[in-house]
Amino acid sequence: MLLFVLVLLVACQAASHDVIPKGPVTQLEPVPKDSIRIVALGTGTPDVRKAAVATSYLIQLGNGENFLFDLGTGSYINLVATGVPQDSLTKVFLSHLHSDHIADLASLYIGAMFGRTHAWEVWGPSGERPEFGTGAVIKGLSQFLAWDTHSRRKIDLIGRSDDGDKVIAHEFDYAAKNQVIYSRNGVTVTSTPVDHYATAGPVALRLDWNGLSITYSGDTKPTQTLVDLATRDKGTDVLLLQSMGPILDFAALPHNSQYLLNTSHITPTQAGAVLQDISPRLAAVHHLTVNDASRVAIVSDIRTGYPASALHIAEDLDVFEVSKDQIAIRKRLVPSTSWGYWHSDGEGVHAASGSGAAAMPFTRHSILAGLGLS
Ligand SMILES: [Zn+2]
Repeated sequence: MLLFVLVLLVACQAASHDVIPKGPVTQLEPVPKDSIRIVALGTGTPDVRKAAVATSYLIQLGNGENFLFDLGTGSYINLVATGVPQDSLTKVFLSHLHSDHIADLASLYIGAMFGRTHAWEVWGPSGERPEFGTGAVIKGLSQFLAWDTHSRRKIDLIGRSDDGDKVIAHEFDYAAKNQVIYSRNGVTVTSTPVDHYATAGPVALRLDWNGLSITYSGDTKPTQTLVDLATRDKGTDVLLLQSMGPILDFAALPHNSQYLLNTSHITPTQAGAVLQDISPRLAAVHHLTVNDASRVAIVSDIRTGYPASALHIAEDLDVFEVSKDQIAIRKRLVPSTSWGYWHSDGEGVHAASGSGAAAMPFTRHSILAGLGLS
């Protein structure tokens, strides 16, 4: 009898493995319960392009939780387009404080305030002085948007007294290696210092949940700390690796400046060596100056050191579905006129289809009634 039960349990476990559908992902498709879905919201450089905005990844867990790793210039547009409920976008982790990684915090602060009923939280590194740390950035952001949040609480959020207009900063010591900076509900996020523009602060981040892990390099030159973070325990499943340069057209800059620029990122050739050291199940490389002309050279350079394993040059709205058995690369379909979701709990507005009429939070009748005109 005991043997029968054991066999049944094993069979049930095998049957419970997530099946990842093929083809593009729509916002109606839930994340399989034991899997992680990564959506590339921005894969470009500070020189944003319509097809490649600055860096950001949305990491969605099968338990329903969402995590944002960086939120660079332009990435909020892709985030909204995914239709992820705004009340679930309350956890943001920053790798460093360059604008191509944090500029759209302002958009999330205000844009998601309509659907957010709880304070949102930002985890980010300290700097060499207090005014260079994440706490100072968030304090400054709150001040920058003080009039905006104050007025919108009167205009757009009539009658609400929740904490959707509040933000909490969690500044951690950037220099601590392999430091757990977040641990809730079976999810951990670990930080380690990396080396970017020879300035204190930048870190790489790793998220672990349900036996799966995602490592995000932030911006860095090749560093052993990144390799150590990504290869801990059983090693990371997915490595989201920054690569850029070398940049050859800064002849007007002093030699020292050129040198710093070209030694503060991971070049495609160096990326091959880093990937070989880490050997993830999937390597996705972003932050590249990639276009049709440069793509072949970039891939060739990476492949000199990383000849055969799974490699993907990430583009905006790529999706990586990660289960214990399988990693699938898909594409997120987003309607270009989507309003996104305002609420996750069934209240208010659900306008993911992009219908302008459906997106309005109040009916004509309710507005007129509120004004005493109906
Ligand atoms: Zn960057």
